Parts: sequence; C-alpha cells; structure tokens
Amino acid sequence: MKSLIKEHVFLLAVFSILLVTCVNAGDSNPPNGVDNPIQHERQNQPKPQPIDTAYYTRLLLGKVQYRNDTSFVLVSPKHSSKQIYLEKSTYKAFRLMYGAAKADGVHLLIISGARNFDYQKRIWERKWNARPNSCSKIEKAKGTLMFSAMPSTSRHHWGTDFDLNSLENSYFDSGRGLAEYKWLCQNAHRFGFCQVYTNKQQTGRTGYEMEKWHWSYMPLASQYLRLYAQLISNNDISGFPGCELAHELNVT
Ligand SMILES: [Zn+2]
Repeated sequence: MKSLIKEHVFLLAVFSILLVTCVNAGDSNPPNGVDNPIQHERQNQPKPQPIDTAYYTRLLLGKVQYRNDTSFVLVSPKHSSKQIYLEKSTYKAFRLMYGAAKADGVHLLIISGARNFDYQKRIWERKWNARPNSCSKIEKAKGTLMFSAMPSTSRHHWGTDFDLNSLENSYFDSGRGLAEYKWLCQNAHRFGFCQVYTNKQQTGRTGYEMEKWHWSYMPLASQYLRLYAQLISNNDISGFPGCELAHELNVT
C-alpha cells in the first residue's frame, strides 16, 4: 500500500500544479469598470463540502457495520458464493462487468468483498497462530503480511475491492481459470477495475505477493487511498496480536 500511496501523493501533487496553472490562467485583471465573468462563475459555484472525517476514518479502519451503512449493499447470490457486501458504486460497476463477461462465456463469482476489522482480525489471528512458536513476533508478522493485511490496513475494509473465483494463483494459470484471468486483464479496466497486487518481478512493485483474484474499483479506491494517507497513521493500528509492530513495519 505504501508504494501506491506514494504514487497517488505524486499524482495529487501533479494535479495540484495543474489546478494552480488553470486558476492563474483566469486571473488576469479586467480593465477598470468591466465585469469579470470568471469572477461571477466562481461565486456561483457550490462550495466544496467538508468531508465527514470521523466517518471516513472509521470506514478506512474497517470499523463500520456494512449491513447498517447505506453506502453498502448486499451482493446478490447470483454474483457471490456467500453473504457479501460491497460499496454501492463498486457493485454497480461489477454488475456491468459481470454481464459483459457472461456474454463472452466467462463466469465471475465474488468470493470475498467488504470485510470489517473483526473479520480481518480473525484472518490475521488464524495465520499468526499457524506460524511456529519458534518464530519471533516480527517473523510472524512478516510471514503473515505476505498475503494478508493487518486489520485496519486492508483495502477490503473499503468495499471497493473483492476477490474473484479462486484464492489460488495457480487456478488462473490454465484452463477455465486462465480464460477468466485473460478476460479480466483485457476488459476489467473498461469498468474501472484494476488488479492491484500484480507480479512483483514484472512491475517492480513491493508489498503483498501477487493476487490474481483481487480486483479494485479504482474510481473510488484511489480516492480512499489518498484519504488513507491523510487520515490514518500507524498509531491507529491496534487491537490484535502484533499490532505493536505497525510502526516498525510502517504498515500505513
Ligand atoms: Zn482480496
């Protein structure tokens, strides 16, 4: 996540520079007594509303109840292997992608979607406890982090990310799995989706190992990533075994 955050901070910086350039381009003073139409336009524009930082902090840390949150929706059993929630616009885009894939003979099934802190904590503890007792805490944490996020640092908290069809990379290497993966690589971007955990050797990416099954709805996830960098720090990571290592591992 760190490298992605850095990438987005960079993009934000570029965007800000462009914005300043645009504002400056419209700032030439009109001659005395002449109305400035740009000024009028600016005055009539609605002011940006401050975001509810308390809500987004809870959301990003995985501490909202999806079933009670109107930003989330229950995924139809037609599209999922169990009871799964997703963020609304993400699910809308998924349904479009599902239809297009189906028309091409490819079946997409969501096997994991929005996961809150408690859910992620159960995953983390299961993997943490499966490590040999001879391992130090930092070894346990690093081993677990290869595939699983610390609670409060998972993109699954946001409802913009989901896992499709299988949790084994090898499934996507041949036969039906390969056809599904090829289809996703060629088409998912048309619906806003991106495989965020790509092949590290090929892309130079750091962090989690490749996950061919994990797809993210970038129009919203990129905004959440930016917010995460603004609102969340290692101090916010707590409540599970090894959480005290968040600073040392710099997980946010
Ligand atoms: Zn995933």
